[in-house]
Amino acid sequence: MSDVINTEIIIVGGGIGGLAAALALANIGKHVCVLEQAAEIAEIGAGIQLGPNVYKMFERLGLVDEINSISSFPESLMMRDSMTGESVIEIPAGKQFKQQFGFPYAVIHRADLHGVLLKKCQTSDKIELRTGAKVTGIEESDTGTSVTTEQGLRVNGGALVGADGIWSTIRQYVVGDGDARVSGHVAYRAVIRAEDMPEALRWNSMCLWAGEKSHLVQYPMRGGELFNLVAVFHSDKFTQGWNDFGDNEELERRFAGKCPEVLSLLGKIESWRMWVLSDREPTRDWVKGRITLLGDAAHPMLQYLAQGANMAIEDAICLADMLVNENGDYAKAFIRYRDARYLRTTRVQMQARLYGEIYHASGAVRDFRNAELASWSDEKFYTGMSWLYDIQPSWRDQ
Ligand SMILES: Cc1cc2nc3c(=O)[nH]c(=O)nc-3n(C[C@H](O)[C@H](O)[C@H](O)COP(=O)(O)OP(=O)(O)OC[C@H]3O[C@@H](n4cnc5c(N)ncnc54)[C@H](O)[C@@H]3O)c2cc1C
Repeated sequence: MSDVINTEIIIVGGGIGGLAAALALANIGKHVCVLEQAAEIAEIGAGIQLGPNVYKMFERLGLVDEINSISSFPESLMMRDSMTGESVIEIPAGKQFKQQFGFPYAVIHRADLHGVLLKKCQTSDKIELRTGAKVTGIEESDTGTSVTTEQGLRVNGGALVGADGIWSTIRQYVVGDGDARVSGHVAYRAVIRAEDMPEALRWNSMCLWAGEKSHLVQYPMRGGELFNLVAVFHSDKFTQGWNDFGDNEELERRFAGKCPEVLSLLGKIESWRMWVLSDREPTRDWVKGRITLLGDAAHPMLQYLAQGANMAIEDAICLADMLVNENGDYAKAFIRYRDARYLRTTRVQMQARLYGEIYHASGAVRDFRNAELASWSDEKFYTGMSWLYDIQPSWRDQ
């Protein structure tokens, strides 16, 4: 027998973006229903970097203390050349970062971040969470929207937020731009215990080993108990894939010739999880009447600026603020939300592609990258990143 739920706002997707949106909307008094296709609302075992910009959003959600209690705070952000092992640049990320941007640079286990959002959603009487609810059908009228799930659930609401990730069903309804763009880069991810890391590399830093057509990222999590490792390389072998097992033989081949430190890190992992990295061309088509997109559904990006989840959480706060500004008029609020967000997210999408090229440079471009970054002062770095980190905490009309 089919089941029917009536709510004010339907959110499709229970990832970081969908849960942040649920909290932001509940905070302005909206009843929301979050529909997640997976049997359980959860995140994968990997790390996530948090810029000071997203901390301003955590402050709006009343989550700063809780996030701080389970985050790690790297002392620096480093780039090393993975061919030679030499340091290219090291920027202080501790006190100076906080002084500059008001909040620190942090790293966190994805499951911990997602868990904080989920726990808060579960304690709200305004948020209904439904798992095992894969949205397949969408209908709209002048007064509302409805979705149906593969499992036979129907949800009626005044508006719909598609927070269903890079392969978004809602995006296909709103934009209709087909498959995501496969970048040709793949990421292998693993989390290891600190005692299994080579002792000389147990730094409290976010370190990116930049190499030719590849790079490796390492940083500690859970107060230094764990380390997150992400190996990225160019590959034509995979055209699609998500959270699948990696191919160790290909990884070894792609990292052949890298410095001993990088090889020693790779050698520590027996089993990697593989992600085929994809994005989409930026668009302003985020809105169709009472339906809008958020997070990766709206602006999927390569992870080279470590900002996809940060942007999704910013979206959530902006969306709720615009609904307040427009007294709950969904169509008007969604357009204002899109207008407030899309240039910024387009910049991050474009810059992330460029960063990928810089991280993977070879020959003269690699020499230029290393010489240029080595000449940067801390202040030059901070000034260069201020467009990203120095965001306003609110979109409310004065
Ligand atoms: C290697 C890697 C490293 C990264 N590092 C960082 C980082 O350091 N910092 C950062 O900010 N970002 C990072 N990102 C990006 C970040 O992971 C994403 O931008 C973020 O998870 C997007 O969140 P979301 O909620 O929009 O989408 P998702 O996390 O994809 O969530 C979408 C949810 O919708 C559900 N769903 C999909 N379709 C349906 C449907 N039809 N019905 C119901 N539910 C559905 C899915 O099951 C999923 O739970 C990284 C990404 C990668 C690949």
